[in-house]
Amino acid sequence: MSNSTKYVFVTGGVTSSLGKGIISASLAKLLQTRGFSTTIQKLDPYINVDPGTLNPYEHGECFVTDDGAETDLDLGHYERFLDVPTSQANNITTGKIYQSVIEKERKGDFLGKTVQVIPHITDEIKHRIQLLGKNGDFDIVITEIGGTIGDIESLPYVEAVRQMMWEFENDCIVIHLTLVPYLSAAGELKTKPTQHSVKQLLELGVQPNILCCRTEHELDLKLRKKIAKFCNVSMNAVIEARDAESIYDVPLIMQEEELDKVVLEKLHLPIVSTPEFNKWKSFTKKLKNPNSEVTIGLIGKYVELKDSYKSISESFIHAGVTNDTKVKVKWIHSEKLNDSNVSDELGKLNGILVAPGFGSRGIPGKISAVKFARENKIPFLGICLGMQCAVIEFARNVLDFKDAHTTEIIDKTPHPVINLMEEQKKISDFGGTMRLGAYQCELKPDSKVSSAYNKNSISERHRHRYEFNNNYLEEFEKNGMIASGKNPKTGLVEIIELSDHPWFIGTQFHPEYKSTVINPHPLFVSFVAASLNNKKEN
Ligand code: GLN
Repeated sequence: MSNSTKYVFVTGGVTSSLGKGIISASLAKLLQTRGFSTTIQKLDPYINVDPGTLNPYEHGECFVTDDGAETDLDLGHYERFLDVPTSQANNITTGKIYQSVIEKERKGDFLGKTVQVIPHITDEIKHRIQLLGKNGDFDIVITEIGGTIGDIESLPYVEAVRQMMWEFENDCIVIHLTLVPYLSAAGELKTKPTQHSVKQLLELGVQPNILCCRTEHELDLKLRKKIAKFCNVSMNAVIEARDAESIYDVPLIMQEEELDKVVLEKLHLPIVSTPEFNKWKSFTKKLKNPNSEVTIGLIGKYVELKDSYKSISESFIHAGVTNDTKVKVKWIHSEKLNDSNVSDELGKLNGILVAPGFGSRGIPGKISAVKFARENKIPFLGICLGMQCAVIEFARNVLDFKDAHTTEIIDKTPHPVINLMEEQKKISDFGGTMRLGAYQCELKPDSKVSSAYNKNSISERHRHRYEFNNNYLEEFEKNGMIASGKNPKTGLVEIIELSDHPWFIGTQFHPEYKSTVINPHPLFVSFVAASLNNKKEN
């Protein structure tokens, strides 16, 4: 049977954290650069319907798509590499699969039959994999299977892959990412874990076509031959995936290893053009040779786990390259900040970012950071909860509403300057019920944001329940905090800025979700430029 869309499955063996997401994104980039429209999908074997209800300590950042899906952070990598938006269909979890099978069962779709993992769950998985290919938008769909081969949770996914390999034998391949560890006592790289991991896959009926071997040292010919022989793959399909200085080097390393060529050959696709990688190469070159350095503080409550702010730190890398500068991020725990130590902790920073978040932990520290940035004219970017803290700080210390707060923290505050959105008041479920995804925003002409974006109408992604309380807007604007971005339909305040400050901006949306290598986000670019200026002037 032939299928116009080709499917590449990426599995992982030996250990987690080998970087399946980056290998998948790099391969997709190489194929895209060769002219194939490519998308990447992540299958996550956990039972949550989406990661929206997960604490960042569990799973890192929750990435949000234009169409409002709360997803795995790997989708952020996919977008940053490909510069193509992902959607609901790009992240599937076991929770989603079971939810839809059970809904169908209740409707009577399987009337009379016993509903089972095989075929009902595996059919649903196969259906979700093929959904992205079906409408003809993509030549190649890369599907990354979360977890590690051998996990009980991922068995139905591997079974679905086995069936697809059988049903569409010319249109599917499997890339298995493994580890080739270096034993320093023996002074040798060891292939046994890779052999075992491939055996485990074989027991499940899947023969990988390509092996990507994560290694700290060079895989010489002898080792490649050994791996090829024991794992039934061709020599050119043993790909060395050496540790890279930056994730943005990986597409170039994979190009040298000819991963894309081997993939095309195995998928029976023509190797038509040579990828043109000038823009990407100039990005990585600039990344490694910055002209200057700025230090920006990131104030958040999850700073022990940097993956919690993945899109923000990547946005700084993109914006740094545009400004020919290295952005050094100083990670500052909001719980450890207060009005008495803020000057010691933040005094040397060139810029201050107050991060998004939920709940009361670390709020006082965030408010101290805002006050310090406002009073000392340090460039400031507040994102979502960070913007809300900027509003609270201004209300308390400029407008003199001493107890001003968000109703998320103090329900009965006398000055609810941040308030639960009207549409949220009737919602009781937690999963997928926030204001999510892309919304239009009109920018005030002559504002700092309109000059940063160089346009007056933008679309940005949201993830929140609380909003600026418009009853206070007049009072704020009279005193210098203006609403420079508003939703044209609802009038919700999406951006605030200070008129008498060099660069003080708070956004209710998350600009970090839209920054890519090819299109660094204008707000981050402008924020880094302002931080550079601040450094020069002081
Ligand atoms: N907790 C705040 C809200 O729900 C901010 C959310 C965020 O920072 N993403 O409005």
